[in-house]
Amino acid sequence: MSATPDTIIGIDLGTTYSLVAVPGPGGPRVLRDANGDARVPSVVTLREVAGAGIQAEVGWAARGGIVRTAGATVHSVKRLIGRSMADVQAELPFLAYPVRSGPRDTLQVELVGRAFTPQELSAFVLRALRERATQALGHDVRRAVITVPAYFDDVQRQATRQAAELAGLEVARIINEPTAAALAYGIGLRTAGRGRPHTAVVYDLGGGTFDVSILRIEGDVFEVLATAGDTHLGGDDFDLLLMRRLASADATASALDAADPLIRAALREAAEAAKVRLSDADATDVELRLPGSGVLQMRVSRAELEALCNPLVDRTLAHCDAALRDADLTTADLDEVVLVGGSTRMPLVRRRVEQHFGRRPYTALNPDEVVALGAAMQAAVLSGGSSDLLLLDVTPLSLGIETMGGAVGKLILRNTTIPCRAVENFTTFVDGQTAILVSVLQGERELAADCRELARFELRGIPPMPAGIPKVEVEFLIDANGILNVSARELRSGRSAGVQVLPTRGLTDDEVRQIVAEGDRHARTDALAHRLIDLCNQVDFDTQKAVQMLDRHGDRLVPAERARIEREMSSLRSLAADARRDPQSVDPDALHRALTDFGHGTLRLAEIGIQAALADATK
Ligand code: AMP
Repeated sequence: MSATPDTIIGIDLGTTYSLVAVPGPGGPRVLRDANGDARVPSVVTLREVAGAGIQAEVGWAARGGIVRTAGATVHSVKRLIGRSMADVQAELPFLAYPVRSGPRDTLQVELVGRAFTPQELSAFVLRALRERATQALGHDVRRAVITVPAYFDDVQRQATRQAAELAGLEVARIINEPTAAALAYGIGLRTAGRGRPHTAVVYDLGGGTFDVSILRIEGDVFEVLATAGDTHLGGDDFDLLLMRRLASADATASALDAADPLIRAALREAAEAAKVRLSDADATDVELRLPGSGVLQMRVSRAELEALCNPLVDRTLAHCDAALRDADLTTADLDEVVLVGGSTRMPLVRRRVEQHFGRRPYTALNPDEVVALGAAMQAAVLSGGSSDLLLLDVTPLSLGIETMGGAVGKLILRNTTIPCRAVENFTTFVDGQTAILVSVLQGERELAADCRELARFELRGIPPMPAGIPKVEVEFLIDANGILNVSARELRSGRSAGVQVLPTRGLTDDEVRQIVAEGDRHARTDALAHRLIDLCNQVDFDTQKAVQMLDRHGDRLVPAERARIEREMSSLRSLAADARRDPQSVDPDALHRALTDFGHGTLRLAEIGIQAALADATK
């Protein structure tokens, strides 16, 4: 579907960040700023402009000015919307602005000498999101699907609706955040109208809050069976723990005045940045220069961070158990686990959640964007009755990985019924190779360059071994929701790594047809190209082995035989080099014959090598 003037947009109106997404061909997309960031901080700074009334600044600019513009800036308004003074007593210490009671048990915030309702303040954020969508779509936007936490009561939902209306948006539907997250993965869409009901748990760990929801999905009805959580538990707490660790472990830092707000802010920022880096690295260096206080320098490992954060993750899992108990379920009843929120990028969180629920959680989508994407998915359903997703019972295109020399090793062929699984073993091509890059490809062509790369990841930490010895098992697993899990495992060391992707996201029916037609058109030339690559790889492998063997045992050959092998090797290598430079110039059958002849010609050398290896082994 193209963006027509009645496009309904999807809005994730968050406590800290808000996002907007729009339906589009091949699925929804979030709208980003010039820096590629989809998140708009839910922070508003107001200014009274003479003659022009109140002007609002929303997002990064307002957030950056929180300290500077005290008395004019609000954040976390979502904690106030639809609440009374009695409801928010526990919140007040966390808010950097005064809140007072308004008429009929409502709340008010006084800014720039005027009283604002939470709805009015939220409307500034919503207006900024609407404006972003208007800019991106090139036409005015009037309707939106807006998400709210599953635990929001009717008053909070109604107040959110009012905020949207103040921003000039008609609310096409209010949906629960966990429902949106499930929808973003296509959960429920594929089975709508058929199949058994299923149960999903949505684990949402953000910067400041933790929510868990248990959903029961039957057809297109999403019922929230239970919710639990902690409104003050999240990534900020991880930062705080790491910050204390930094301050206590380093002499310079211990001497710092941790009560000084500037030093605190700098320490906190350094801790958060280190935490984020440790989601990818095993260790990281923290270096913090403070004017007049020297330099704090420290190395932190992921294991240390995990030891610090583990008790907090325990607390989230205890909430999960409570929610399961409320829903009268056990982990065995769950069909899907969905991760939402920036803090679920932490490997510790992913690992513990996987262990706790006994199944791999869904991580294919950006955890910051998944709720907005789901809202746009619902918007697409409401505007056209279509989800804009390829929801198929078969894989529309083949899936595989890039193999040596740029060929494609297909693991799952197109039109395979899902769910399905395929496993294949691969090995290394270079002696002592300790890492393998796995590029996950989709398409019908034979060369990686002609396929769509869905994802890539690295399997690291393979113990150094001669080429061909490591056994790397690559597994492709597509579940009933069409989500692809790819994992690679080196069998001797047990090292593994993996990635999850939504293979049909971003593809339309027409594109699939086009890709298949292209594949058919190039079938013959592609097959030849693939064969040449395989042959060239074999030439590399065989000649490399022959060189090693000549080095070790060449002195046991008569000089003429050694010279012949070297001559044949060099002509075989130059044939392979020609084939790589200009595939048209070399007949694959001729290369195959040359390779076979080379094998025969080095038989005696190989025998000598085997005898020597056996003799070594018996010694
Ligand atoms: P959210 O409220 O969902 O935007 O989540 C924000 C929280 O996620 C903050 O505490 C961030 O520090 C944290 N976060 C974002 N990216 C990462 C990452 N790669 N590793 C660990 N935490 C992250």
